[in-house]
Amino acid sequence: MNPVETTTRLICPLTATTVEEMRAEMVAAVAEGADMVECRLDYLDPPPDDEQLADLLRDAPCAVLATCRPVREGGYFDGEESHRLAILTAAGTFDSVEIIDVEIDVPADDRPTGTTILSHHDFEHCPENLDDIAREMDASAAAVSKTAFVVEGPDVALRAFDVIRACRKPTLALAMGEHGVLTRILAKKFGAWGMFASLGVGKESAPGQLTVTDMKHLYRWDAVNPETRVFGVIGCPIAHSMSPAIHNAAFAATEYDGVYVPLRIEPGRETFNNFLDAVHERPWLDLRGLSVTIPHKENALVYIGAENCDELAVRIGAVNTITLDETGSLRGDNTDYAGAIDALCDAMNIAREQLAGKRVAVLGAGGVSRALVAALRHYGAAVTIYNRTLRRAEALAEEFGCVAESIDQADETEAEIAINCTALGMYPNVEASPLSRIPETVKVVFDTVYNPLETKLLSMAKQANCLTVSGLDMFVNQAVAQFERWTDTPAPRDVMRDVVLKRLGK
Ligand code: NAP
Repeated sequence: MNPVETTTRLICPLTATTVEEMRAEMVAAVAEGADMVECRLDYLDPPPDDEQLADLLRDAPCAVLATCRPVREGGYFDGEESHRLAILTAAGTFDSVEIIDVEIDVPADDRPTGTTILSHHDFEHCPENLDDIAREMDASAAAVSKTAFVVEGPDVALRAFDVIRACRKPTLALAMGEHGVLTRILAKKFGAWGMFASLGVGKESAPGQLTVTDMKHLYRWDAVNPETRVFGVIGCPIAHSMSPAIHNAAFAATEYDGVYVPLRIEPGRETFNNFLDAVHERPWLDLRGLSVTIPHKENALVYIGAENCDELAVRIGAVNTITLDETGSLRGDNTDYAGAIDALCDAMNIAREQLAGKRVAVLGAGGVSRALVAALRHYGAAVTIYNRTLRRAEALAEEFGCVAESIDQADETEAEIAINCTALGMYPNVEASPLSRIPETVKVVFDTVYNPLETKLLSMAKQANCLTVSGLDMFVNQAVAQFERWTDTPAPRDVMRDVVLKRLGK
C-alpha cells in the first residue's frame, strides 16, 4: 500500500454483486472522473475468496479503498467477524489498495494492520458525542478518520465541517441524506480526505450520495478550493430546483470562485432560524448568498428584519434573495418582482416608471400575483385582480388599492396588459387558459408560467397580434439579478437561459 496523500479525492463506491461487474464498474468510475474507487466487498455475493480478490484488485486501474461493511454498520456482510477481517487483510496486500476501512467498534487488537481508515456511522442522527468520537479517532493508530451521520437539517450537517476543522489527521466527515448534500459538495473547500460519489442514480452506497457526474459537472468539484465562496437555495422541497444548475453554470462561465448548493430546510420559522444562526457561528463557511423559495420567503424577511430589506420586499412580505457580506450582516431583496416587471418593461421597451396609469389585469391572487401587484402599484399602474376565490382577490386588492373581480369576469377586462399568475396552462394541463378569448383592449399578454414556454394563453395572444412575454424571461431575470447582487459581476444571461431551456428539454 502507498502512503496516504492529503488531496481531497473523489471516491466512487462500487456496489456490484459480482467480481466481473465490480471490475467493470472500476473502469467506468475512472472514465467518469473518480480519483479512487471504494470496493464494497460486502456487496459481493458470495463473499470473495482469495482468487476472486485477485481478479478484482490485481492491477486495478486506479487507487482502491477496500471496505467490507458488516450488517451492524449498515453493510451487507453477515458472516463471521474473523472471516470479514481476513478478507480485509487479504485485500490490503494488493498494491492498488491504498487503504482499508475498519469500523471503530472493532477492538484495536483485532484491526487489520497497514494503512487504515477508522470509520464511524450513525444512520439515525448526529451523535451527541460527535466531538468525543472525532477525538478518539484522531488519537487512534489509523491513518484517516471517517465519520458519517444522518441529519434532519443543514444546520446540523455543518457539524461535519467542525469535525474536519478540529481533527489533526486526514479526516472525512459527512452528513448523510438530502439535508446533508452540502457536506459532500463542499468537502474540498474544507480539505476533507475524500468524498464519495456514486457511479449513477440507483448505485448509491449511502443516502444523499450525489453522482460523480453531478459532483464534477453540476457542483464544480474541480473548481472548489479553500477560498471558494458559498451560495445556495433554501426551500422545501428543493430536489428539483433549477437554481443550482443555473448559478453554477454562471459561476463557471464567468470564472467566479463560487459554488451553489441545495439546502433543504423543513417548513417552519424555527428550522429556518436555526440554519442562519448556525451559519453566523461559522464565518469560515464563506456563505455569501442565498436564494429563498417556498416555504421560507416570509421567514427570511422576519429573520433579516424590514430595516435591512428592500422597500418592495417588505411590502410584498417576501424575501427571495439574501446577501451576506464578509462580516456576516444580512440584506434581503425580492428579485421575483424585479424579474417580472423587467420582463414586461423590456418587452414593451419602456422604463418601469412608464407603467404609471396603464390598466393591468392580474389573473390570480397567490404569491406571484402579490409580488406583481405590489410592484405594479408601486409604479402607478391601475390594477384589477381576477381570481377564482374572490375573497382572496378582494383582500389583495384592498391592501394595494386595486379592484377585485371573479376570474369568470376576466374575458370582459378593459385592461391593456393581462398577466397570468395562476397555475392555469402549466404542464401537464397545457390546454387550460385563464382567458377563453383575448379581450379587445388587451395589447400585451404576459404569462408567468414557463413550462411550456408557449402556453395556450400566449398562443392565443400571438394570434390576436398581441405583444407576448413568457415566464422564462421572468425566471431568468430573477436569477440574473441575484447573481449580479452577489458577485458585482455582469451575469452571463445567455448561459443561464440555456440552462433553463436545456432543463425544460428545449
Ligand atoms: P399560488 O400562490 O399557489 O397561487 C396560485 C393561483 O392560481 C391562485 O390565484 C389560484 O386561485 C390560481 N389557480 C390555481 N388553480 C386554478 C384553477 N384550476 N382555476 C383557476 N385558478 C387557479 O402560486 P404562485 O406561487 O402564485 O404561482 C402561480 C404560478 O406562477 C405558478 O403556477 C407558476 O407557473 C408561475 N410562476 C412563475 C415563475 C417564474 O419565474 N416565471 C415563478 C414562480 C411561479 P385560488 O386563489 O382560487 O386558489
